[in-house]
Amino acid sequence: MSGTVHLERDGDVAVLIIDNPPVNAGSSDVRKALLRRIAEVEADATLAGAVLIGAGKSFIAGSDLREFDLPLEPPQLPQVIEAIEGSSKPYVAALHGAALGGGYELALGCDARIAAPETVVGLPECTLGIIPGAGGTQKLPRLVGKAKAISLICTGGRVSSPEALRLGMIDAVAETDLREEAVALARSLKGRKQRVIELPVPKDKPEDIEAATSKAVAAARNRPHIQAAIRHVMAAGTVGACEGLAAERAEFQQLRVAPEAKALRHIFFAEREATRGNLPAGVKGRRFESFGIVGAGTMGADIATATLQRGFPTVLVDSNSEALARAKARITAAIERGVTSGKLSVDAGDRAKCNLVLVSELQSLEDCDVLIEAVFEDLETKRGVFAKLDAIAKPGALLATNTSYLDIDRIAAATTRPQDVIGLHFFSPAHIMKLLEVIAGAESSHEAVTTGLAIAKALGKQPVQASNGFGFIGNRIYAAYRAACEFMLEDGALPHEVDEALKDFGFAMGPFAVADMSGLDIAWRMRQQQAATRDPAARYVAIPDRLCEMGRLGRKTGAGYYDYDEKGRPQRSAVVEDVISMASDAKGIARRSLDAREIQRRAMAAIVNEAGLVLEEEIAARASDIDVVLVNGYGFPRWLGGPLYWAAQQDLEELASDCAASTAAAGPSKRRADLDALLGSESRNRTA
Ligand code: NAD
Repeated sequence: MSGTVHLERDGDVAVLIIDNPPVNAGSSDVRKALLRRIAEVEADATLAGAVLIGAGKSFIAGSDLREFDLPLEPPQLPQVIEAIEGSSKPYVAALHGAALGGGYELALGCDARIAAPETVVGLPECTLGIIPGAGGTQKLPRLVGKAKAISLICTGGRVSSPEALRLGMIDAVAETDLREEAVALARSLKGRKQRVIELPVPKDKPEDIEAATSKAVAAARNRPHIQAAIRHVMAAGTVGACEGLAAERAEFQQLRVAPEAKALRHIFFAEREATRGNLPAGVKGRRFESFGIVGAGTMGADIATATLQRGFPTVLVDSNSEALARAKARITAAIERGVTSGKLSVDAGDRAKCNLVLVSELQSLEDCDVLIEAVFEDLETKRGVFAKLDAIAKPGALLATNTSYLDIDRIAAATTRPQDVIGLHFFSPAHIMKLLEVIAGAESSHEAVTTGLAIAKALGKQPVQASNGFGFIGNRIYAAYRAACEFMLEDGALPHEVDEALKDFGFAMGPFAVADMSGLDIAWRMRQQQAATRDPAARYVAIPDRLCEMGRLGRKTGAGYYDYDEKGRPQRSAVVEDVISMASDAKGIARRSLDAREIQRRAMAAIVNEAGLVLEEEIAARASDIDVVLVNGYGFPRWLGGPLYWAAQQDLEELASDCAASTAAAGPSKRRADLDALLGSESRNRTA
């Protein structure tokens, strides 16, 4: 049995306590119990009204998503809400913790809503490829107007109590005791019903609605469920209530079982699982209250912004005083942007600025609980820093490197405490990107890795645990993908053709636009470092080297794979196209055109094959971890569920032949992953 509802009496008001630990998910048992209790309240003449409240730490934090893959068991949520709205007695929703999705829709079915000060409310359904299906699209516009409803529903935004009160999403914020104040509110409504569905929809300015719509469509890449959500919000008040609710429900039911929603549920559960890492049960992490960061370049400054924004005192060290000055300006600007956008309160912004200490001496790190190194990507430089940190850091301090590719074990070996060393691989910009790879070296203790996972949580990041290996999970797979795209240039495609095909597939950006954005010189430097040890049998594409030699380092030099006009818009470059065609000629490759489908298949085959190798080598513990990495760090379309979820939906034979072609194109030394082992059973499980 998953959940129940208790009834306690407070004079003439029934307090219905929803009890389904840990977050009171709206399971079928909860719905059944609610319906029984509502009938009980209705039948009891001594009761004048009721309060709905959650047991434990939350109201209903959302529906039970595990039920969403199956036909939904009756009673469904709209039936429960109809019973409340059809009751002759007033119902008050008393919200604390989270009232999200079906939880907030239940509250919208009540006659009033009161929330504890720290509550968040909202309708996050769109983040899962569906729309609110129990009245959300029809009722929220009646409280906040259509423009605001579109933006709240399409982004799935969570709204805190004070803001929810300001917008009209709730009627009151409890001052002292939520339950008591909710009971008093129910009593004050005695004999009255004030159903949200009967309210008129306030008139918004058409230009506000238009602005909210185009913003929502652009942000969500015009996915079908976003268009559906907008359509239903727009229908509110223009069609009858029953018709509006029925149409919303029908669309919800269709979207719920569509491939996109299934993929989004997969990635939702995959993220939750990744958060737990891959460690024995019961390992406890260390306490951490302060951070020290070595290297105040792009990454060091942004990591400092991330720790400061979360309230941690942070010492930032760099041997170069100009780098420190630049970092200070960068961090201050980012914090101020946080305050202006409302992400940080003015107080939190001031505190963050005061919590920053900039120094040139490593010695100042002696009291820090967590030390993160973000100096140049050079093994000996990093080993030098770690040897010094070993001498300075207090016992039990966590020592982490932000290396993108280097060997964590060789870095740890520069210390006398390799058990305390892990990788914390942030993505750029580090205060914005969600992903954090937590890398366990051969000697990293479980405690240190657990602490790494806890750091991710404290910084609001999505962790994925990885083992030590060149490029870990993400950069290793991305390197194979980028190489496959470079092969396509030599074979006959042009950068804009590859980029457009992969954007059409769903990637946020094409690989060559990404390269121009991050700068071609980083990979160039790495290729130079690896030149002596490179496998001579591996196919090597020299096009990016030629571009770098010409000073075409990407957007920062105004030219890379593309030329950039004065407004920063990319244009095809005749120079680059010459370089590409000369590269094909030099290898005797007869150029031919590649259509979008071939480009997509070749790129995906490279990703899937490399992902298979990453799993075989146990760099990643779970296929779903790879999905989480690519979706959160590399712009892989979330609505396809990640590359391995996507792979499991494909024709296995066709994919196997694509992977064979992909490895053959990469040269004789490229290994093929065992796709049957990778996808045979996965595929059957997932599509069942
Ligand atoms: P950067 O060149 O912008 O900054 C490096 C900073 O380290 C410089 O300010 C330099 O003065 C300082 N430094 C070098 N040696 C030092 C020492 N011994 N003591 C103190 N300070 C020292 O580099 P970045 O782009 O910030 O990258 C830093 C690390 O993060 C690298 O390992 C890189 O691979 C990794 N990384 C970078 C990105 C990215 O997109 N830039 C993403 C993830 C990880």
